[in-house]
Amino acid sequence: MPTLPNTGVAEVIALGAGTARIGSMPTSIVTGGAGFLGSHLCDRLITAGHSVFCVDNLETGSLENIAHIKDRSFEFVQHDMIEHLELPDAVDFVFHFASPASPIDYLRIPLQTLKVGSYGTHNALGFAKAKRAAFLLASTSEVYGDPQVHPQPEDYWGHVNPIGPRGVYDEAKRYAEAMTMAYHRQQGVNTHIVRIFNTYGARMRPHDGRAIPTFLRQAMDGDPITVFGDGSQTRSFCYVSDQVDGCIRLIESEYHLPVNIGNPNEFTIAELVEHVIRLTGSRSEVIHEALPQDDPLVRRPDIGLARRLLGWEPTVELEEGLTRTIESLSRTATATVTGGQ
Ligand code: UDP
Repeated sequence: MPTLPNTGVAEVIALGAGTARIGSMPTSIVTGGAGFLGSHLCDRLITAGHSVFCVDNLETGSLENIAHIKDRSFEFVQHDMIEHLELPDAVDFVFHFASPASPIDYLRIPLQTLKVGSYGTHNALGFAKAKRAAFLLASTSEVYGDPQVHPQPEDYWGHVNPIGPRGVYDEAKRYAEAMTMAYHRQQGVNTHIVRIFNTYGARMRPHDGRAIPTFLRQAMDGDPITVFGDGSQTRSFCYVSDQVDGCIRLIESEYHLPVNIGNPNEFTIAELVEHVIRLTGSRSEVIHEALPQDDPLVRRPDIGLARRLLGWEPTVELEEGLTRTIESLSRTATATVTGGQ
């Protein structure tokens, strides 16, 4: 296992066999790698033959998400990206995914959300520059705010309330995009920006507050399903494997401006609940709660650019993706009951 310089900020925990790194593999770091999306990205990179450093402060990520990775080319580094990061190894790709991503998380830790979007992105970009690595910023459809253009193309500047409760996330990511473009334009870093639209799949935390894990947990436990507002607001849900595929294609491209990656099939939240109830066979009742402030009324990506530029297209539709997610939740519940057998 390679050793880290004693910076006092990064603790390496080897989850794999801890033997020597294989020299000719590309090396990636994934910040936020123990989170939902980051852990799926780690899986895909390892399958593709990369050596992977997974960097996470475990604020919203979890070691459980990466516990299955036994590969010797994988290492976990517990580190908060708002602090300077140093690793001795050559690095080819930096995937910067560290950030709270659920409204209840960024409302709970607004300052950390702003700091990881600003200082954290600065550190990740400085690291990529020092390593001469390609860089991908995980940005978000939230940069479009409560959009007045529908569907949202990349050249739409958005409609964000900077001082509302969601502003900490939206503005952090908008700032992160600005800094990423500045590192590209002024410093020549090979940067990329993916604007991620609502993505779901296995390993979302059942209590992370987002619609799909919340509705699935409520439906499977027979609890009331909490629809905020009248359920007429829309979202477009992308299955995690499609999202990861888009991100990898983008970092390998020569394109530096933002690219939307999401599934353009749009559903009302009421329609999502109907799918969840049908697929889980639940008898849960639906109750209505207040719509959170600045909750976007509509959201749907224009993915024309991703199609043209990357040849990327989502392949897993909502019904199939929800079915797979339900299966993984059922497996996790069984493993918990039987002690992981
Ligand atoms: N939502 C809901 N009930 C919940 C959680 C979310 O009705 O228990 C709604 C939320 O108000 C929003 C949509 O589902 O309109 C998607 O919310 P989510 O938090 O998943 O993501 P967002 O797109 O708002 O970041």
